[in-house]
Amino acid sequence: MIKRKVRVKLKLLQDMKEVFKTLSRRRPTKIYCPRCRSPKIHLSSSLDYWLTPKKYVCENCGYTGPIILELEKEA
Ligand SMILES: [Zn+2]
Repeated sequence: MIKRKVRVKLKLLQDMKEVFKTLSRRRPTKIYCPRCRSPKIHLSSSLDYWLTPKKYVCENCGYTGPIILELEKEA
């Protein structure tokens, strides 16, 4: 009985390893402005960031908001 439990635990650890492998293998993504599709968009560094958790600012068209376009880089 005890042996069986140990085996299950090892299997779980192996699954975790697979998850990490998949995560590190993930291709990098690039973010774009949803309004003008410019890649010149970045997280706002306003002082009240704890009131508005995530806000992006587009340098190109001045868009501000929580929505961005996220696309996988072309290989
Ligand atoms: Zn824009």
